[in-house]
Amino acid sequence: MVTVDPKAGPKYIYRFTEGNAHMRELLGGKGANLAEMTNMGLRVPPGFTVTTEACMAYLASGRWPEGLEEEVEEHLRDLESDMGKRLGAPDDPLLVSVRSGAKFSMPGMMDTVLNLGLNDESVHGLARQSGGDLRFALDSYRRFVQMFGKIVMEVPGEEFESKLEEHKKRRGGGAQDTDLDANDLAGVLRDFRVIYKEHVGAEFPQEPREQLRLAIEAVFKSWNGKRARDYRRQNKIPDELGTAVNVVAMVFGNRGMDSGTGVAFTRDPSTGDKVPYGDYLPNALERHYRDMCDIEFTIEKGKLWILQTRVGKRTAFAEWVMAYDMLDEGLISEDEALQRVDADRLEQLFKPVIKADVKASARSIAKGLNASPGAAVGKVVFSADEAEEQGQRGEPVILVRRETTPDDYHGMIRSQGILTSAGGTNSHAAVVARGEGIPAVCGADAIKIDLNSRSFSANGTTVGGGEFVTIDGFDGAVYVGELELEESKLERARKGDESAREEKIWKAFERFMGHADSARRLRVRANADTPDQARNARERGAEGIGLCRTEHMFLGEERVAAVRQMIFASTPKDEEEAYAQLQPLQRDDFVGIFRAMDGLPVTVRLPDPPLHEFLPDLTSLAVEVALGKERGEDVADQERVLGKVRELHEANPMLGLRGVRLGIVKSGLYAMQVRAILEAACLVRKEGGDPKVEIMIPLVATREELRQMREELEPVAREVLSREGVELSHLEWGTMIEVPRAAVTAREIAEVAEFFSFGTNDLTQMGFGFSRDDIGKFLSMYEQRRLVPANPFVTIDRPGIGRLMRMGTEEGRAANKHLHVGICGEHGGDPASVVFCHEIALDYVSCSPFRVETARLAAAQAALSERSTAGGQAGKRDV
Ligand code: PEP
Ligand code: MG
Repeated sequence: MVTVDPKAGPKYIYRFTEGNAHMRELLGGKGANLAEMTNMGLRVPPGFTVTTEACMAYLASGRWPEGLEEEVEEHLRDLESDMGKRLGAPDDPLLVSVRSGAKFSMPGMMDTVLNLGLNDESVHGLARQSGGDLRFALDSYRRFVQMFGKIVMEVPGEEFESKLEEHKKRRGGGAQDTDLDANDLAGVLRDFRVIYKEHVGAEFPQEPREQLRLAIEAVFKSWNGKRARDYRRQNKIPDELGTAVNVVAMVFGNRGMDSGTGVAFTRDPSTGDKVPYGDYLPNALERHYRDMCDIEFTIEKGKLWILQTRVGKRTAFAEWVMAYDMLDEGLISEDEALQRVDADRLEQLFKPVIKADVKASARSIAKGLNASPGAAVGKVVFSADEAEEQGQRGEPVILVRRETTPDDYHGMIRSQGILTSAGGTNSHAAVVARGEGIPAVCGADAIKIDLNSRSFSANGTTVGGGEFVTIDGFDGAVYVGELELEESKLERARKGDESAREEKIWKAFERFMGHADSARRLRVRANADTPDQARNARERGAEGIGLCRTEHMFLGEERVAAVRQMIFASTPKDEEEAYAQLQPLQRDDFVGIFRAMDGLPVTVRLPDPPLHEFLPDLTSLAVEVALGKERGEDVADQERVLGKVRELHEANPMLGLRGVRLGIVKSGLYAMQVRAILEAACLVRKEGGDPKVEIMIPLVATREELRQMREELEPVAREVLSREGVELSHLEWGTMIEVPRAAVTAREIAEVAEFFSFGTNDLTQMGFGFSRDDIGKFLSMYEQRRLVPANPFVTIDRPGIGRLMRMGTEEGRAANKHLHVGICGEHGGDPASVVFCHEIALDYVSCSPFRVETARLAAAQAALSERSTAGGQAGKRDV
């Protein structure tokens, strides 16, 4: 029995008999489950687990924490006495495996060393104990030297592999490992040890306890290896957890025909079907864990040993099917079922994906940010006009641009996918793509576009206009050629396909989403700018519009002409004329939206973008004027435009004349839009509808800005209502909180606002001082070097931007108890951010229509995990 003096410090090692499945944090998933299975009475080889705390202590100081060495020795002695063998003893050696195992399973990300304890003498002991099977013993030793060299001492693995190949070749073409006899293997071993010595500068260690010490240390270090770090970043696993190290007595699955080894799953991990996957199914494990398990086992001389089990990885699809079945089987409750499915992966289920086997063998030419999910195949085009023209002809196209602007919208919506070489996940391209449900990869900075030769190149590959490419909006990969895609059953079912509606995935989806809606507290609205988007959002369960951006209402030839007339107007009369042209067009836009959202609130944001966006590009226009002059042409008109473009030019338009500032400078513009909104609402009201109108002023930084705007605009609204003789059931005035100052002075602003909506795109941009359009250039380096915890434009940065939100909400409500508060930045559709919004008690989140279901699910998971005593991060389980 091990006794550790509590005064000597923390206990760093647990025998399998001492742990259980709830100790994942300390023992890692593998260690906790080995302990649990040991205590269930399953045949698990004996061993012990070095804790994650020991790992973190080692990584913090670069040294073994005090007391660990003694604990290893004590536990090793216990293990030796359990097994009746000594580690690496010459006559009958105990051999062990040393395996990593973190709290969250990270398959293949960290390292394992097998057969530890073998040396030049014990290899013969192993042979004797295996009935004189020297080949088996030498092969085990050869594997050990190879693994130890590569993993523990960082000898390049290819050197061992190519040496082994050489030996196989000598045996004849097509020879396998199993064709090498004892003599060959002795030769391989000699060569391996030469390679080892060359790289390490010392002989292969013969002392088993030294081998063990080095191997434990290597597992600790592997926590910070590149693979493991990348995996954690991708899967949002915290860096502070560390890995445990399991030291387990070896059993061999390669000792002849009565031995074997394998992995089995208790259900099919790709379809979710309740059929064993693999060839061995211990039902007891699934009942015990109440989830699909994978089981690694070895049969040594007819005796079965369970080496590890864990809640198995599964596809997003299988996750829903399994949870549905297990609910039916009474294994889990409805609440548990809902928490079994990952909100982060829900959107995947509606989108086409690249077929798994095709993806596995394809090589990407570039990688960008996964800006909008789904895979898309199409011919490369470089302009929005081409995209529109070819798209209308039914050609699949991928629009490839450095970045996009509102002018490109017509081509973007005709494209199968969008690929940009600059810009982040909140750039124009990303926001529009997500809103329209178009797959997009943004900020793929390896892509260099050459418009002269109508081609782009990336990492040495050149792709011309008209050639096919495939983009994967799930992971940001870009491929040349047409990769085969797979259609989504769920999307077919959602669109009403009867046979798809018979599928279990649809039944699971319907049932769980129904439950989610009854469990959640947060309301979910959508960011929708058109009647089509509003209808789509409503079908997906949106409970209103949280952000209707009105920018696109100024696009299109006729409208741009009117906007320009407004910009150039030299008299108030000219300006009024321009508004008079725009107003009826805008009214019709709003009518469509209010009809689609009848009975639900619609938050309309008054114009936000800087005026120069409606004028030609400064450089191109200057060139045009200069060339025209040179040719002796009359360029008076262009020069006038150029003068205005220069006048409006801003060094930093994101911080320039936009949002409420534009409303103050061009007050007629806001008044025109308020008139159009109210006229539309009256019309819909007269038809018998119930439009619920919320008018939102963007980019407010001071109470006075909002107060003065309301003072100007409310009479405009009242005038329309009295002229039309209509009363609305709901008309509110509020603001976006997207400038840090607004969050900090929320108390004052709330006195003149009926609602707040956090514009977390700008709030993040201004809070960090990161341009949302340029962050793609350095974001991945920032993430790699952990200068930011995650992309702050995707997931709310809790300590910074999140704090501003909490402060804004609490102080706003303190000043105005009727204030309702939501979020309409892109974070509103990110599950982790939705959980945060639940925690700070927002009233609603608003996100792109395609993320409405994701937000409903994440909101329910947040509510459920708050209720359950365990708490924890919704959507991510301890497996
Ligand atoms: C925001 O800033 O979060 C927002 C929703 O506004 P926009 O993205 O249009 O700037
Ligand atoms: Mg904004």
